Formats: sequence, C-alpha cells, structure tokens
Amino acid sequence: MSDQTKTSVAENLANIQAKINAAAQAYRAKTGIFNPVTLVAVSKRQSDMRIEAALTAGQRVFGENRVQEAQRRWAHRRDYYKDLRLHLIGPLQTNKAADAVALFDVIEVIDRPKLAKALGDEIIRQNRQIECYVQVNTGEEAQKSGIAPNDADDFIAYCRDEVGLNVTGLMCIPPVEEEVAMHFALLNIIAKRNGLVKLSMGMSDDFEDAIAFGASAVRVGSAIFGARDV
Ligand SMILES: *Cc1c(COP(=O)(O)O)cnc(C)c1O
Repeated sequence: MSDQTKTSVAENLANIQAKINAAAQAYRAKTGIFNPVTLVAVSKRQSDMRIEAALTAGQRVFGENRVQEAQRRWAHRRDYYKDLRLHLIGPLQTNKAADAVALFDVIEVIDRPKLAKALGDEIIRQNRQIECYVQVNTGEEAQKSGIAPNDADDFIAYCRDEVGLNVTGLMCIPPVEEEVAMHFALLNIIAKRNGLVKLSMGMSDDFEDAIAFGASAVRVGSAIFGARDV
C-alpha cells in the first residue's frame, strides 16, 4: 500500500469523524437529544488500496450500491474482519434479494412490496438478522427509487406487520439541484410519526446539514476515498 494513500484516507476519516462529532454536539445543544451518528464509508468503485487503508485506520462500516461488486469486494474480507457492517445503499432487484441478504447487515433501499416480501422470505430462509430501512423518494422524482412520501406510512406498516421485517429507519437521497434541508426535515417527520429512530441521510457535500436535521447515519464516499473510478 502506498504510504500516501494510507495517510490521506486515514486523515480524511479523522477529519470527517471530527466534523460529525461537532455536528452531533451542536444537535444535542439545540435539541437536548444525543443522537449517535454512524459514518458509513461508501466504498463503491474505490481501489483495494483505499479500502485497505480505511480498514487499517479502523473503519468498519461500509456502504455499497451494487450487490455483485460488493460481493467481490467484501465476501472474502468478512472472514477476517468479523465486526464489519455492510450497508446496501443502491437500488436492489428482487432477483438479487438472496445475495443481498447473505452479504449485507443493513438494507437501506426497501421501497416496494414485492422487494419487501422477497427480502422477508430470504431473511427467514437464511436465518439472518438484518436491519431494514425504507427508502423515501422525498423529491418525488420519477426516475428515482423510493416510496412516495404520501405512501410511506402504509408501506412501513406493511413491511413491519405483514412481512415481519425489522424496520428500524428511513433513507433518502435528495434531488441534486435542490436545497437539502426540506428533504432531511421531511424524512425526520416521517420517521418520528412511525416510531423509527434511524435516519440515513447526507453525503460528502451535506453530511453536516443532515446531522443538523437528525441523521443517525451519513453516507460519505469521495470525501474519504477521493474521486471514484469511472
Ligand atoms: C455514492 C453514494 C453516496 C456517496 O456519495 P459521495 O458524494 O461520494 O459522498 C452516498 N449515498 C448513495 C446512495 C450513493 O449512491
């Protein structure tokens, strides 16, 4: 591993963790709520060298957006790093539900009944403990995954009560050109009225804003690892 890669990934992780801690403190001062924030290091399309540097620095929670790519990167590492926690943060096809359940600990992208059912069946079949987040399309963008905000309450109830998923949180990806604040605030409101405590929101450019609106997990890729391979 080049010393430079090792140093810069470790430094970036330390810097981001410090910013996360400061933002969580500010949130506590304002609301009286201490909300622990998990840094999910988004490792998609990053080199092995950078991944190893993050592991060496002690990072154990990673996010991936493609099942097959994640299998290549993480299946063999799981045996060695027993405390890894892998989050699936990209769209999931129903026919990949079995592979996703086998590999991931947190599935953040549940957004339709057919997928929820397929995951529920696999979780039972494989006897896995998986944390499930419902993805909400807060910007109601036609091309984007996620359940519409108006359908979220019914869908969450369906996932919990009919499918039996362990739904603990919500996830959103705000539209690129819009002010993120109202999207983060909306996700927080939907979570509260459904009794959910985990909120996955915020990326490299806006994770501190997300924490100000109650994020419990931020998904940060390029600010840790640098630009991705295309
Ligand atoms: C790639 C990705 C991220 C990380 O984005 P950065 O801007 O590199 O921090 C976060 N969330 C999702 C859903 C992603 O696909």
